[in-house]
Amino acid sequence: MSCPRIEVDLSKIRRNTQTIVGRLGPRGIGVTGVTKAVCGQPAIAQAMLDGGAVALADARINNVQRLRQAGITSPVTLIRTPMLSQADEVVQLCEASYNTEIAVIAALASAAIRKDVVHGIILMGEMGDGREGISPENVAEVAQEVMTMQGVALKGIGANFACLSGIAPTASQMASLCHLANEVEGVCGPLLKTVSGGNSANLPWALGERTTGRINDLRLGEAILLGVDPISGDQIGGMHTDAFTLCAEVIETGAKPAPFPIAMIDPALARLRIAPSSGMSTRIILAIGHQDTDISGLSLPVGSTLIGATSDHLVIGVNRCTLKTGSELRFQMNYKALMHAMAAPDIDVKLLYDLPAKQPRQIQGKSEHLMLV
Ligand SMILES: *Cc1c(COP(=O)(O)O)cnc(C)c1O
Repeated sequence: MSCPRIEVDLSKIRRNTQTIVGRLGPRGIGVTGVTKAVCGQPAIAQAMLDGGAVALADARINNVQRLRQAGITSPVTLIRTPMLSQADEVVQLCEASYNTEIAVIAALASAAIRKDVVHGIILMGEMGDGREGISPENVAEVAQEVMTMQGVALKGIGANFACLSGIAPTASQMASLCHLANEVEGVCGPLLKTVSGGNSANLPWALGERTTGRINDLRLGEAILLGVDPISGDQIGGMHTDAFTLCAEVIETGAKPAPFPIAMIDPALARLRIAPSSGMSTRIILAIGHQDTDISGLSLPVGSTLIGATSDHLVIGVNRCTLKTGSELRFQMNYKALMHAMAAPDIDVKLLYDLPAKQPRQIQGKSEHLMLV
């Protein structure tokens, strides 16, 4: 089998979606599956839809194109404010897009008129993350302006949290978003189909004690794909954390003098905590490196330690080496490592359809990702 490769257990992605859809449904919240971390891989998107996601979303138009070319017909929303230069493609491929700029909305409207379609507009409010969004006090005004344009229809409002700041949304921020929805409807009429509360970082709030108010949609990528809460990195109860496995091949094994001098370590990894190398008598080299993934986001197999990595090599130390040249090592990835690896041209994606069902194991303690220090 070709190496390096990512093995994708599609049934785990489907079941993760089912689990989260089942928990959010009773709270009046539908799930939009976000495919950007897997570059719009169509089979993975389909697994989300099979699991009950009502729609898909991606940040990049090329990924949406990949979904469409594979024959996926579900609604797809662009969740990054469209580039002015891509207005035609956005209108062609997406039912709706998240928007923050009136000039872009005007370009989408013109493109939609040319194509004789109506493009949905969801206005993104800036509720404290500091990334994209319209200031809350201006959202109603922009909404009114959208109402006057032909070719576009106001479909909803939304917000995004924790992406830039890494801070989970508070109940009061979520209440402000609900309040904003009411305010917009006060001036535009009751036509907001979607009030989208945010991403995977919203789950603790959405599944918590308080009412979820007007929020009727969450855009979920990481929680579905990796089964973890993005802020804490902890497993979400009942979710599979091992839908993706990165396999790399050993290209050299052998005893080397230990400890290895620190100067040998790639400066790019110098910020990584290097575990004591005492007793690490063997090092092995794998044919994978910075060009393929975010090495610091890999979980190493038990009993092994990261020594360093370069563009094309990963060097790890092991106590006892039963691995031979040509054998494979398997890693779990965090979200950054996953999105980087899924986009790497030299990594094959191997899709595994419906393996026999197994219940997810609860992780004992915290998963061991390498930590930046
Ligand atoms: C990436 C992204 C999401 C999905 O984030 P996850 O953490 O993967 O759930 C949702 N909304 C927007 C605007 C995004 O950029």
